Amino acid sequence: MSDLMIAFRDPQTAIDCVKAIRRPNGPVCPYCARAKAYTLSRKNMHRCAECRRNFSVTVGTIFEDTKLPLRIWFGAIWLITNHPKGIASTTLAKDLGITQKSAWFVLHRLRHAARTRSFNRPMTGNVEVDETYIGGKGDQPS
Ligand SMILES: [Zn+2]
Repeated sequence: MSDLMIAFRDPQTAIDCVKAIRRPNGPVCPYCARAKAYTLSRKNMHRCAECRRNFSVTVGTIFEDTKLPLRIWFGAIWLITNHPKGIASTTLAKDLGITQKSAWFVLHRLRHAARTRSFNRPMTGNVEVDETYIGGKGDQPS
């Protein structure tokens, strides 16, 4: 876990990792699927040449619209896959150094992703979140 946190200490490393997995051939518009996009001066943002909408690599993923750093998400996925019988949001919060409310949100989103099988491309060959029960007994937001 600490290796993971060190490896992704620089937020750009985590973003580059998601880019390499999702869009190895460059940005593709998540709205119209066109592969022609301009890179904007705002870091990690692109504008579609067709529909003109702006997007980042996390649009359309479980990481979209969250203020949590990607390394926290990666850490959560790692912890969840290492607790096959489930992990409570309180434990996740403690282990990741985030609030229980944030941990509950992360679990909720990861559960949704597992249920809808939106993990169509695992982060590594060993991650199988859809085979794991995410969450603990009586796990509720506070
Ligand atoms: Zn587009």
